[in-house]
Amino acid sequence: MSLTIFVDYDGTITDVDTFDVLVRSVAGDATWHELERELRAGRITLREALAREAALVRLSRPEALALLESRARIDPTFAGFVRVAHEHGAWVGVVSAGIRSIIGPALERAGVDVPLFANDVDFDTAGWRMTFIDDSVLGHDKAARVHAAAAAGARTVYVGDGISDFEGALAADVRFAKKNRALEQFCRERGIECTPFSSFDEIAAALWPPC
Ligand SMILES: [Mg+2]
Repeated sequence: MSLTIFVDYDGTITDVDTFDVLVRSVAGDATWHELERELRAGRITLREALAREAALVRLSRPEALALLESRARIDPTFAGFVRVAHEHGAWVGVVSAGIRSIIGPALERAGVDVPLFANDVDFDTAGWRMTFIDDSVLGHDKAARVHAAAAAGARTVYVGDGISDFEGALAADVRFAKKNRALEQFCRERGIECTPFSSFDEIAAALWPPC
């Protein structure tokens, strides 16, 4: 059976969450922490948090890309992982609650060509306006994509790190969670089988063990 692999972007393919880096560097850590506290306590939805955080960012797209180029690093083993996955007939797609027009160029620079499903923003220098990919409270219903792939007969794999990945990971047959992040803790607390990872070569080795 073919594998369909959904991969989160921020904090999963990258070392840091690029959306958080943008918000924190423009709005300050205190404002960001306050919104994250509200989110973690369940007082606001992820969709609402993203919209409010985006509105705090007053940068042009080139400014945002330049800032992230110096602050975020893509896992150097990700491009190789995608190559091996394709060699094994697997489908790999990136699913993100982050910003498509920022993630797309970064993946391209890393030499990765995979489908990308993400939110986006209008780059208003008076504050960004989020444009969400669907109507869900998460701002991007990743679980719906996993369910659709499963319904089409695929064996599904989910790779993620944070709150936006909880539902997508739950929906998948096989899960990988970035070490020491929210998704790993979420799975552990609920007794859900999940393999912790630090880099994508570990995931390739787990899915396709060398003979
Ligand atoms: Mg993430």
